[in-house]
Amino acid sequence: MTVLERPNFTPDTDPRDVIRWALAQHPDALMPSAFNLNGVVLLDLAVQAGYRGEVVFVDTGYHFPETLRTRDALRERYPSLTFVTLHPAPDAPQDTYADDPDGCCAARKVQPLQSYLRLRAPGALLNARSREQATTRADIPFVEDGGARLRVNPLAYWTREMLETYAREHDLPVNPLYWDGFLSVGCWPCTRAVRPGEDARAGRWAGKGKTECGLWVGENKL
Ligand code: SF4
Repeated sequence: MTVLERPNFTPDTDPRDVIRWALAQHPDALMPSAFNLNGVVLLDLAVQAGYRGEVVFVDTGYHFPETLRTRDALRERYPSLTFVTLHPAPDAPQDTYADDPDGCCAARKVQPLQSYLRLRAPGALLNARSREQATTRADIPFVEDGGARLRVNPLAYWTREMLETYAREHDLPVNPLYWDGFLSVGCWPCTRAVRPGEDARAGRWAGKGKTECGLWVGENKL
């Protein structure tokens, strides 16, 4: 992979400048999204920065109705984007989230997205992770090299307070579960509200010794 030019981003760099840079280098960039607070803010910033590509969501079959309604509200609000919903293969394991959450995530979330990305082969992915979300994300940079494509994290340095302020000021359709303490919303069997003092992703796979679904870490990461 050849990176033509990488400007000297600093933590204060506007996420829109990071997105513009990424799109200039990789006009075929795609945006996977689960429509969490970070994802909704990224989507709005990306449109401002000129993104007119796909927003790719994996419907594992276990999403909260509020999440699906958030997707629908976003689709209505941003007609210039193409919303793609992927589904697990028909033979993917069902209802194994309690006994084998890693296998469930691999088959019902990671595999559908990996298959789609093999088909589309984008040069970069725009994603909404931020350092403050979890200790496992504390060091993510704006741009990660390696693998089949660049992983671009325009919100790497944004705090939850900045994200909430932006969402309110722009009247974004945030998943209503967020305001009920579900600071990171995944599938309903594997998500609970966050307790005071916990990090934003503490409600994901709580008590299962698992912190990531495998999209962004591990041997099958995007
Ligand atoms: S988050 Fe839970 S239900 Fe959803 S794919 Fe992963 S293990 Fe399965």
